[in-house]
Amino acid sequence: MTDPGSSVSDVIIVGAGVVGTAIARTLAGYRLDCVLVDAALDVGTGTSKANTAILHTGFDAKPGTLESRLLARGSALLRSYADATGIPVEYTGALLVAWTPEQFAALPGLAENARRNGYLAVRPVGAGELYAREPALGPGAVGALEIPDEAIICPWTTPLAFATEAVGAGVRLVLGAGVTGVSEVDGVYELASARGVLRGRWVVNAAGLGSDVIDRMFGGDGFTIRPRRGELIVFDKLARSLLRSILLPVPTARSKGVLLAPTVYGNVLLGPTAEDVPDPSDTATTAAGLESLMAAGRRILPGLGEEEVTATYAGLRAATEHSDYQIRVDAPRRYACVAGIRSTGLSASLGIAEHVVGLLGEAGLPLRPVASALPLPRMPYIGEAGRRPYQDASLVAGDGAYGQIVCHCERVSLGEVRDALASPVPPADLGGLRRRTRAMNGRCQGFFCAATVSRLFSEVGLP
Ligand SMILES: Cc1cc2nc3c(=O)[nH]c(=O)nc-3n(C[C@H](O)[C@H](O)[C@H](O)COP(=O)(O)OP(=O)(O)OC[C@H]3O[C@@H](n4cnc5c(N)ncnc54)[C@H](O)[C@@H]3O)c2cc1C
Repeated sequence: MTDPGSSVSDVIIVGAGVVGTAIARTLAGYRLDCVLVDAALDVGTGTSKANTAILHTGFDAKPGTLESRLLARGSALLRSYADATGIPVEYTGALLVAWTPEQFAALPGLAENARRNGYLAVRPVGAGELYAREPALGPGAVGALEIPDEAIICPWTTPLAFATEAVGAGVRLVLGAGVTGVSEVDGVYELASARGVLRGRWVVNAAGLGSDVIDRMFGGDGFTIRPRRGELIVFDKLARSLLRSILLPVPTARSKGVLLAPTVYGNVLLGPTAEDVPDPSDTATTAAGLESLMAAGRRILPGLGEEEVTATYAGLRAATEHSDYQIRVDAPRRYACVAGIRSTGLSASLGIAEHVVGLLGEAGLPLRPVASALPLPRMPYIGEAGRRPYQDASLVAGDGAYGQIVCHCERVSLGEVRDALASPVPPADLGGLRRRTRAMNGRCQGFFCAATVSRLFSEVGLP
């Protein structure tokens, strides 16, 4: 993390969520001086940390939209990127389940929609096969569509990998610097922030829930963010054996509906709700929201009623009055708006970044590739399906800290905590350490390990 200083950068990216960090790592491939700025003290603390963590194929997007195109492209790019960098992904596939004759009748239309989006692998599944594949499914399902390439991904490692790559390639990360105003002096933008003035020739607005406020600073008035809250319930790992695939509902015009999915940490996720809220910081869960989820979850998988809940949370979709992404580059103003990335931005992030950087180039930003790109970062693996450090005998033999368990629920070792605290993009608080290691994220939610983890954290000190 660096001080803004008085230098003039080529590009300032406002917002270090999954979209802003993806844009930063893509711009880092060119000979440009870039700054990535966020109001928060860490990357990925907005909507990017609280979603459903599905790596979508885009089968259900509206054909012909920018979202459909960038989602398909981004999803393909993220699959290879995750593989190269060690972001946890599990290719579980999804079953979109019909529970009524009306929903069953809608399945061929959804399959046709997928084909129009260029996704050809959807396949009808009869009730017999459905119950053979998902024996814990509640009674009454009449059939399904299989979407074999839907996957689950770690939403926390993804922006962290992008930011780590960007910082390694020279992008300056300025955190705790909410942008409050803009002025232009001799072709240079001056962004007022809590950390002083940031100067840059081009600005990219990737401020998520705050993107309409930033857009108005640049003279835009084409959209307003209408936060749509989604509450979710995380079940204990003992629930994981209840399902094999992501179980999707038949979507409605308003929402993709309530789904059940495994997580890459070995839990089960139920949600999200969809409720418009006036306050872009209102991530509270509600009794009514959680009760409605539990009722839906019990209908889909009756066994869930017996399982323990580990945590609940809510995220806010950056919805607008428009149904598509709000992405445009204003060449004369040297300004890019990347907004309205409502409910697919994790999957689409690299496609969005590629598209935006292309538009910036067409608008006059000089894109000269760097002479030799650095290798991609290899991120600490925090998934459940692969080998964790405590399971790696040779790693433990070489460094005993990887065999010293700090968080017993999630099997997080001292070595992993130490590495996270010393990483190029270190955590700013215990929540950040949790997202990097899974420490305090298990069924006791830190009851046993929080004191030890806090001590380790305070020994290093806040960045
Ligand atoms: C309930 C829910 C479920 C979802 N499920 C999925 C899913 O399964 N798969 C999927 O692909 N997508 C999903 N999404 C969507 C996905 O999470 C978002 O599209 C994505 O995280 C948006 O990223 P972002 O970078 O645009 O926004 P954010 O992550 O919100 O980042 C914006 C950043 O801008 C910063 N900022 C704001 N204002 C300012 C300012 N004035 N100055 C400086 N910084 C500022 C904020 O601090 C924040 O860090 C879901 C979303 C929700 C809410």
